[in-house]
Amino acid sequence: MALLQINDLVVRYGEIEALRGVSLAVDEGQVVTLLGANGAGKSTTLRAISGLIKPASGEILFDGKPISGPNTHTLGPEAIVRLGISHVPEGRRVFPGLSVKENIMLGGSNRRVGKAELSREADAMFDLFPDIRAFANALGWTLSGGQLQMVAVARGLMAKPRLLLLDEPSLGLAPVIVQAVFRIISQIRRDTTVLLVEQNARMGLSVADHGYVLETGRIVLGGKPDELWGNEAIRAAYLGGH
Ligand code: ATP
Repeated sequence: MALLQINDLVVRYGEIEALRGVSLAVDEGQVVTLLGANGAGKSTTLRAISGLIKPASGEILFDGKPISGPNTHTLGPEAIVRLGISHVPEGRRVFPGLSVKENIMLGGSNRRVGKAELSREADAMFDLFPDIRAFANALGWTLSGGQLQMVAVARGLMAKPRLLLLDEPSLGLAPVIVQAVFRIISQIRRDTTVLLVEQNARMGLSVADHGYVLETGRIVLGGKPDELWGNEAIRAAYLGGH
């Protein structure tokens, strides 16, 4: 049984049908990458999983249990976090009035553990993200885009999720930083299942066990990364060769 199973999901924003029957599965322990152009519906898929928007039809099952769908009382975002799904949205929002470490600790606020334990775990995050260690306790810090991204991923991991949803972690980052972020993704995959949204097909598939291509609200392709890369027509049409 898949950890996450999405069946025939339809999401509308008013008149706009952003998802037109999306089905996909993520097995426990996998990194699954969802590729697609701007506006294809990638972020919408993640928002539906984390309970930020309610689908018009279809269903989402987590660990075999429905969390969203027309015949289910759709769970709210807090309930979904408590089930073990953590969403790192596009844009890396951080709270400038808090230190980097406090920002990271916030990610664990859904768990029933004391502040001392959260503090220890946040300290351990700096082993995974050494580039931001120097800013741990400073106030008035200024971080680069890549460093902010690391704070956002570390915060997502503090929830100890069974499933981590990562929305375009490479967006706007210099290639060397993108590589650092993807190195971290390949490290965390040992303990965490990841559904990764990416426009950068090469990086996205480099860490994936399985990939899907989303086009105007529909999954048009799915397969192992080398199958997706191996097909010239697919590469030209959907992956943009990058
Ligand atoms: P991007 O990489 O640009 O975020 P995406 O693949 O994540 O693209 P979505 O953001 O999921 O795409 O958007 C899918 C479609 O839904 C697009 O046509 C978009 O314009 C529309 N859309 C997204 N959010 C909203 C909203 N809040 N209100 C109305 N339409 C929206």
